[in-house]
Amino acid sequence: MSTVHVPSKDIPVLYHADIVVCGAGPAGIGAAVFAARSGKKVVIIEAAGCLGGMGTAGLVPAIIHMTDGVNMLAKGVCVETVDELARRMNIKPNYGWHDVQPELLKRVYDDMVAAAGIKVYLGMPIADVIKDGERVTGVVVSTKHGLKAVTGSVFIDATGDANVAAFAGVPFEVGDEKGRTMSPSLCVQYAGVDWEKFRANSNGVWSVGTIWKKLVDEGKAPMKEYHFVGFFKNGNSIGSGNLGHIYGINCLNEDDITFGYTEGRKIAEKIHGFYRDNIPGFEKSEIVNTASVLSVRETRRIAGEYKLCFNDYTSRASFEDEVGRFAYPIDIHSSSTDSDEQKEVEKRLHSSALAKGESYGIPYRALIAKNTSNLLVAGRSISCDREIQSSIRVMPGCFVTGQAAGAAASIATEKNGAVRSVPAARLQETLRSLGAYLK
Ligand SMILES: Cc1cc2nc3c(=O)[nH]c(=O)nc-3n(C[C@H](O)[C@H](O)[C@H](O)COP(=O)(O)OP(=O)(O)OC[C@H]3O[C@@H](n4cnc5c(N)ncnc54)[C@H](O)[C@@H]3O)c2cc1C
Repeated sequence: MSTVHVPSKDIPVLYHADIVVCGAGPAGIGAAVFAARSGKKVVIIEAAGCLGGMGTAGLVPAIIHMTDGVNMLAKGVCVETVDELARRMNIKPNYGWHDVQPELLKRVYDDMVAAAGIKVYLGMPIADVIKDGERVTGVVVSTKHGLKAVTGSVFIDATGDANVAAFAGVPFEVGDEKGRTMSPSLCVQYAGVDWEKFRANSNGVWSVGTIWKKLVDEGKAPMKEYHFVGFFKNGNSIGSGNLGHIYGINCLNEDDITFGYTEGRKIAEKIHGFYRDNIPGFEKSEIVNTASVLSVRETRRIAGEYKLCFNDYTSRASFEDEVGRFAYPIDIHSSSTDSDEQKEVEKRLHSSALAKGESYGIPYRALIAKNTSNLLVAGRSISCDREIQSSIRVMPGCFVTGQAAGAAASIATEKNGAVRSVPAARLQETLRSLGAYLK
């Protein structure tokens, strides 16, 4: 790649906070809320026009698997979010699978961060970091007036892609041994669904997948896709779908990302045709929205002080510096159009499920980014292998690592931002006092 020289220049400091939270998906929201509730000055910087990441801008249809069947593992910001969302959707909270009405979820988050006194910048991508040795002193943001800086004592990378960590020179891994990642989707929303008719004429939302797969086998489906997730009700006549995969693309590559959006919209149209023509209740439905943010499952996993591994999953590991536990199964979506690989996904999801009451621990060290002194990473890009990433990446897991990072950052601010100086016992005590689940 050819290069150009950008002359160095002074840029204005837009804001200074104790804790700078980069990205506001479930991990960023969890981090910011727990940090602010610990009495710190917190700022969120978010590239999209709303808070919530994949659950709002990405139109991901549900928040799933908050418990291990006995214990409420996602206690804290996740459960609070689901309870409030359920209240506004006028339904009961479902801690196994809670459908998301994305517009209401955006408002839940707006109100939650306002109540916590958090400063928020929306529509503001982070383009670089400023470092002094191993210390991150600021992030460079893109504004209507050009580049500005946001400075702070501790930084939390909750961008999902570990962008800030990568800018700061933290080593990372991507995908499998060949660099292949789980395929993204472009989630979609329909309006005009007759849910009463659907209910009266079907065996529920999951049964649609069986009809789809039969058509694929008969060569009558608009595309060959064996991992069909589904479309879920989240309002009187609306719903959201996690439908179809965009195979073979790398969500860190600029051209692939652009292709992902345009191809995702084509796929959305094709699969909507299937619903309209084959599923009772969908005859008059229309696509009203595809996600404004590509629904990405996997990109970078940072190198941290501990790499959480599949072995920790199978051994239901516990750690001295444990900051939470999680239990969602191994769910590695296929990266290719290979039908056998696609069919394997659901088999592995079911065969890897832990028994009731079982879970694996998450050590604080998996959030501490190498080569930096004051940077924590939360959400789907923490230090782990692919198997664990495919489990911890669902929203409750990201809330758990996010709120742990927020609580840890608040303690680190008292130690000049040194995230490695946070005592595990004090962190655990803080997390408990803020309402998190710890064994
Ligand atoms: C298609 C699909 C279906 C899924 N289904 C489910 C499901 O049913 N249930 C479930 O619980 N989970 C599901 N997941 C997983 C889950 O939605 C995500 O893994 C989770 O949201 C990740 O949380 P996060 O906070 O780490 O990152 P994200 O939710 O990705 O949030 C990251 C945020 O950072 C922002 N950001 C990124 N780069 C920058 C930057 N440079 N500057 C500023 N901001 C930036 C983004 O705009 C975004 O808002 C699904 C995921 C996908 C893709």
